[in-house]
Amino acid sequence: PAAQIGVTGLAVMGRNLARNLARHGYTVAVHNRSYAKTESLVADHGDEGTFVPSESVEDFVASLARPRKVIVMVKAGGPTDAVIDELVPLLDEGDIVIDAGNAHFPDTRRREAALKAKGLHFVGTGVSGGEEGALNGPSIMPGGSRESYEVLGPILEDISAKVDGTPCCTYVGPDGAGHFVKMVHNGIEYADMQLIAEAYDLLKQGLGASAAEIADIFRTWNEGDLESFLIEITAEVLSQVDAETGSAFVDVVLDQAEQKGTGRWTVQNGLDLGVPITGIAEATFARALSGSVPQRTAAVGTLPAHAQAFDVTDREAFIEDVRLALYASKVVAYSQGFDQIAAASAENDWAIDRGAMARIWRGGCIIRARFLNRITEAYERDADLPLLLADEYFTGAVGNGVQAWRRVVSQAALAGVPTPAFSSSLAYYDGVRAERLPASLIQAQRDFFGAHTYRRTDKDGTFHTDWSGDRTEQPA
Ligand code: NDP
Repeated sequence: PAAQIGVTGLAVMGRNLARNLARHGYTVAVHNRSYAKTESLVADHGDEGTFVPSESVEDFVASLARPRKVIVMVKAGGPTDAVIDELVPLLDEGDIVIDAGNAHFPDTRRREAALKAKGLHFVGTGVSGGEEGALNGPSIMPGGSRESYEVLGPILEDISAKVDGTPCCTYVGPDGAGHFVKMVHNGIEYADMQLIAEAYDLLKQGLGASAAEIADIFRTWNEGDLESFLIEITAEVLSQVDAETGSAFVDVVLDQAEQKGTGRWTVQNGLDLGVPITGIAEATFARALSGSVPQRTAAVGTLPAHAQAFDVTDREAFIEDVRLALYASKVVAYSQGFDQIAAASAENDWAIDRGAMARIWRGGCIIRARFLNRITEAYERDADLPLLLADEYFTGAVGNGVQAWRRVVSQAALAGVPTPAFSSSLAYYDGVRAERLPASLIQAQRDFFGAHTYRRTDKDGTFHTDWSGDRTEQPA
């Protein structure tokens, strides 16, 4: 029988996606550059459904029913282009090529335009959830044409994660919108992880608590507003004992965080759009600082701390303060990420429904969390909400924790414990809610040295002061 969908690229992700499709009853054409991976998939999992293996790309394409639907799941970058170039001459008008790898969205826009010119649909889709998600239900963020989604959407929704029966997959928007949203998802993931790491550090240093004790705190937190995959795995990791040394596992892991680049892309794009995504940026830079070995070596034992010891008199109150500060900082990071989505959506005419994005992130992906329901509800109340933080639910939820947040950030500063994401999120909160910012002084300085002009609070127009002359003001 002709296969309903094909997967080329059968490393961990492609293999599991193909199995997921087969388990849902689809006849799946499978192909990989080196045939051994195709053979092993069929040998190991052939009983899970119907696979149609092909050794050549030609046979693979020929085994597909029309309109052909080909999922490309190979290494991002050059390899993706190579595979697309091989496929395109074999395809016919109306066929759909789906790039489910971690492409950078400008590449997706370029590929989509090139395939559209040939009468083909190109769907760049974000897939989150790692190997586990690919097999059992990922969060799926497809871009491309709406027309292609009509054919492809039902299949993707079928194999996606479900929360309360709702699929964690929806049409995101044209061309690169899907990969863009996946990129911001990853940026938010960086922020979430950094905030959790800072909370752990504060509990460790503030309470002198062991990893196992902190694991219990996270386990308790996971029963409330903070309930999420990342909090859950944090408790698991902190409970782990190293077999070799008998120490807490977290204490034997080298403290230099690595990254594959999606956080960096998100920050670069935030700068391009002029959207202050400070939580994501601090998280990305915190990883960079951890890996700055020569600088850290030069600084350790050299830079004076002049810090004072933590003074925690009420253990439970301190834990609750850290929890509230974590929640508030997390809301800031998400609020900023959704601002970035709104800005890119406006710039590219993507018309992205932010509430729907929060909905499809509730399951399958790394940032899945109970709290995403609150975000969906906020955008249901107002689809054009200018600031997530200003939604009535979040003003309450964050407002309740502001004093705790201030105590935590100031105690951390006095004790010399670095909390870049906690502190910059609080600075953003105070900045965005300030009635008047010292940006007035920046504007005056710019006019002074560069005649860059300024606007006034009391009348319309642009003005320049003759700083080097008689210092009178002229309309500019
Ligand atoms: P890899 O990124 O390790 O890619 C390996 C696959 O790419 C193999 O099938 C390999 O074929 C194929 N490949 C590499 N170069 C070429 C080429 N020039 N021509 C044809 N095929 C080529 O695999 P993963 O499964 O880890 O990831 C696949 C994609 O999914 C990537 O884009 C990744 O970023 C993304 N992703 C990964 C996640 C994860 O958790 N791993 C999560 C979400 C997305 P061969 O066997 O012949 O070498």
